[in-house]
Amino acid sequence: MKNAIIIYLIQFVFSFSVLAGQQDTLVIEGHFYLDGKPVIIKITNGRFAEIQHKEAETGIPKVFIAPGLIDIQINGYMGVDFAGQDLTLNGIRKATRELWKEGVTTFFPTLISNDHDALKKNFTILAQALDDPEIGTSIPGFHLEGPYISPVKGFRGAHLEKYIRRPDWQEFLEYQNAAKKGIKLITVAPEVAGAIPFIRQCVENGVVVSLGHHNGSAENIKKAIDAGASMSTHLGNGCANMINRHHNPLWPQLADDRLTPSIIADGYHLTKEEIQSFCKVKGPDNIILVSDALDLAGLPPGEYIRGERKVLLTPNVVKFPAENVLAGAATPISKCVGNMMRFTKCSLKDAIQMASTNPAKLLGLNELGEISHGKRADLILFTIEEGNMVIQKTIVAGKVVYSKD
Ligand SMILES: [Zn+2]
Repeated sequence: MKNAIIIYLIQFVFSFSVLAGQQDTLVIEGHFYLDGKPVIIKITNGRFAEIQHKEAETGIPKVFIAPGLIDIQINGYMGVDFAGQDLTLNGIRKATRELWKEGVTTFFPTLISNDHDALKKNFTILAQALDDPEIGTSIPGFHLEGPYISPVKGFRGAHLEKYIRRPDWQEFLEYQNAAKKGIKLITVAPEVAGAIPFIRQCVENGVVVSLGHHNGSAENIKKAIDAGASMSTHLGNGCANMINRHHNPLWPQLADDRLTPSIIADGYHLTKEEIQSFCKVKGPDNIILVSDALDLAGLPPGEYIRGERKVLLTPNVVKFPAENVLAGAATPISKCVGNMMRFTKCSLKDAIQMASTNPAKLLGLNELGEISHGKRADLILFTIEEGNMVIQKTIVAGKVVYSKD
């Protein structure tokens, strides 16, 4: 059986043909993620040119085809820390190549609350990636998580209190200029002084606002949504352990249909029941999977030193071993797709939608997140083995950037 699969995989029709008008054509065969049925997809000049659904299974490889995964919150990968003092363009290239192996075709490098100059410096380096010929296609923008969040212990999570400040539009513009206008998403606390006009200004300037690391009241949250906030950052995390059962930031964010939450479905940051409940309330059209992965993600499990502390990287998560508590996430969203199907019994279609279609829509990435005629050909070929996605090939703008064989 295994051999048969391998033979099928080799059967990919990978034709690089020069037709009239110098067109690059790639033909991909497999099973469509929306309905599991056989499909032949023709890509011309980096775009979907033809999607042909087939009745007969004969000769169609036993792989699924889906749009490439989109991770809008990721702090680093494979030892490359986007907030690191030693960040280089080469480091970002390395992280991108490694993410392609996990089926991530688009991602938003994320910087959390930090020293003013450090944020400016790292956005300047990250901005070099935006138009890099090798990886620029995979990086449409950045996520700034903080520094305008709650300074209160529990709600601020792992953000250091000394770096948290009040919303300041002029300061934000300094980051935006350093980032060559690449900051497309910002996480803000709605209850801090000046947050509501700041949110309005962000939205008017095309920056998507997400509520996170906050203890906003129902009124704060409503005002923020009225001002244009459209997302909740890693709902259920960035929240104190002890909260009021009636008056807490979770209920109003769940209750308002205008907010799409992102969730860390690694099996550690939220319980299975939380994920099930969030999905029931919001539905598969309104949930976004994020990895929120730390730079250690992708490295071999073991002990590492972070700052002055020892951390333990398990295959799924980073812990402080002395206290046995979470130190951060380390599960790529390809794995979260499998988790979602296991935790909520949702279909592959729904899980892929949460990891690709929904983030593309919310961030205005109109060319991505779907396999349809004329859109940019970002796609993945994968098998499902023991409930998990195993990426076989990753294609960005019609170009094979990763192949397992
Ligand atoms: Zn966070």
